[in-house]
Amino acid sequence: MLASESQPKGKLHSCLTIDVEDWFHILDSPAVPGIEHWTSLESRIERNLEELLAVLDSFSVKVTFFWLGWLAERHKNLVCMCRDSGHEIASHGYAHVLAYEVGPNAFREDITLARDILENTIGDQIRGFRAPGFSITKKAPWAFDVIKESGYQYDSSVFPASRGHGGIADSPLGPYFIETRSGHLLEIPMSIVKIFGHRTSLFGGGYLRLANKLMIKWGIDKLQTAGRPLIIYVHPREIDPAHPHLPLSLLRQFKCYVNLSSTLPKLKWLCKNYALFTMLEMVENYIRSFYLESRMIPVMRLRNNQASGELSPESEERTYPANPETFRNRLLLVERAMADFLGPLSPAFSPDTESSGIEANAKL
Ligand SMILES: [Zn+2]
Repeated sequence: MLASESQPKGKLHSCLTIDVEDWFHILDSPAVPGIEHWTSLESRIERNLEELLAVLDSFSVKVTFFWLGWLAERHKNLVCMCRDSGHEIASHGYAHVLAYEVGPNAFREDITLARDILENTIGDQIRGFRAPGFSITKKAPWAFDVIKESGYQYDSSVFPASRGHGGIADSPLGPYFIETRSGHLLEIPMSIVKIFGHRTSLFGGGYLRLANKLMIKWGIDKLQTAGRPLIIYVHPREIDPAHPHLPLSLLRQFKCYVNLSSTLPKLKWLCKNYALFTMLEMVENYIRSFYLESRMIPVMRLRNNQASGELSPESEERTYPANPETFRNRLLLVERAMADFLGPLSPAFSPDTESSGIEANAKL
């Protein structure tokens, strides 16, 4: 799937991601049944996932499934079916907990359990993680350390805009590395565009259901111009308007259930009109394009690490520092982070690519 030639700036890097959970895995409402009740509820995951797989297959599109561990251990055949169809398996945690609510220890336990279940099911490494409810916020900066320590290589949990729960409203909009206690974690934040100066999504959940195709296309064009990736996210329940509805507050009912019948047609339209990849393929292509264009992916540090979790803006710059020594050090840091991510066996990191990218720049 990797392009063999340099990709021009503005090329759209795009992926489709599916958070695999059932209709009752909604967050942050007293009307949502606790985990002790889940086994007694009707499950609609099988029919919804099979329908999604058939649609994806009809367009030959490969995606990333962020599986909830609780569901995966009950539907191992479905996890394998996704893997056998060529899709990427990633983790959505085990019990659908909000990171900022449960704290570091319970969060570590939850995401490690999910990873173990998924890896034992497919017999392969799980590299990607997405927190339920995009719940890595300024209240939970420790989560990046915990995710990396738990063996994940990339994270897709940051929603860089305000939202009901979760979200870091002022975080960077494009992918970046975060320096954690145990190495670099690649962060792929959700796709956001500005409308009248306000950051918003048009590409997943209720945002995708509310926006019409013209708006979505406008948003994708904006991402492409800005050189940022398109990340689409949906849930299996969103293609199933007949699923049972929970007695949520009016606002939450609107957010969770508006325009459900529009999800599937929009997904088909996206699959037909855009080259969608798994998240792993997309980020490998993205990193490789940076090499080939002699650009650096930002490396962020957590300022006042445990206190506020602010991402340090001074390390966000995308231009090369004037001082050659600083430049070289920064380059080596990014090179290590990129190589860390791609790994020695990745076809994206061939010796030719290395010499035409980083090494050539280091001599400047
Ligand atoms: Zn979820």
